[in-house]
Amino acid sequence: MDLCQLCTHHDAMGGYLCPGCTKATVVRLECLPALYDGLLPFLAPSSAIGQGRSGKGGHAPLPVREDILDLRAPGGIVGVAEGWLAAVRKERGMRPLAPAGSVEGRLNAAVSGLLANLPWIAVSWEQAGLFAGEIRALARDVQSIVAPAVDTVRGTRIGTCPAVHDDGGVCGAVLRLGHGETVVRCDWCSTAWPPATWAQLKAWQDEDQAAAA
Ligand SMILES: [Zn+2]
Ligand SMILES: [Zn+2]
Repeated sequence: MDLCQLCTHHDAMGGYLCPGCTKATVVRLECLPALYDGLLPFLAPSSAIGQGRSGKGGHAPLPVREDILDLRAPGGIVGVAEGWLAAVRKERGMRPLAPAGSVEGRLNAAVSGLLANLPWIAVSWEQAGLFAGEIRALARDVQSIVAPAVDTVRGTRIGTCPAVHDDGGVCGAVLRLGHGETVVRCDWCSTAWPPATWAQLKAWQDEDQAAAA
C-alpha cells in the first residue's frame, strides 16, 4: 500500500492517507463544530440574522430548510462523526461510548475522539479513505450552505468586508477565502471571519448592498 486512498498520490509513508490528506482531514474535523453552529442562522433566519452591528432586525421569516434541519439533527453531522468514531473504537477493541448530552456536546466529543485516533486511522486502518472521503463530503455539504462555492485557483470571493471602522465607515475591501483555508481574513483591516461568522457576514453584506443601492 503506497497510494493515498483519498488523493491517490504516492505516499512515501506507506500509510492509507498521505500527510497532506491527513492534515486536511484534521482541519475538516476541527471545522465541524463551527460549521454546525454556522448553520443555525440559515435554519431560523428571522431570529438570528440582522442583529448586532446596527441593532435593526426585521428580516421576513423564511420557511425552515429541511436539508439544514437534517444536518443539525442527531443523525446529521453528529451522527456521521459518532458513527465513524464507533467504527474506529470497535476496530481497535475499545468499548463503545454511549452518546450523552446536547448535540453540540456530542459533536465536540466525537470530533475529539476522531482526532485522537487520526494518526492510527491514517497509518493502519483500511477504511481510512472511506472515512476521510465522507468527512470531506460532509464539510463540503455544510460549507456549500454557509459559504459560496470554492474557487480553487484564486480563492473564493466572499463579497466585501463589512467591518465598521472607528470613524463609522464600512471597510469595503474585497474578501477572499484562500484555497484550503477555513478563515476569511480581510487584507485591508485584518478582521478575521471564521466559519461561525459567515452567516452574519452575509447578512451585513446584504445590508450594505441594500444601503448602497
Ligand atoms: Zn492524499
Ligand atoms: Zn476589512
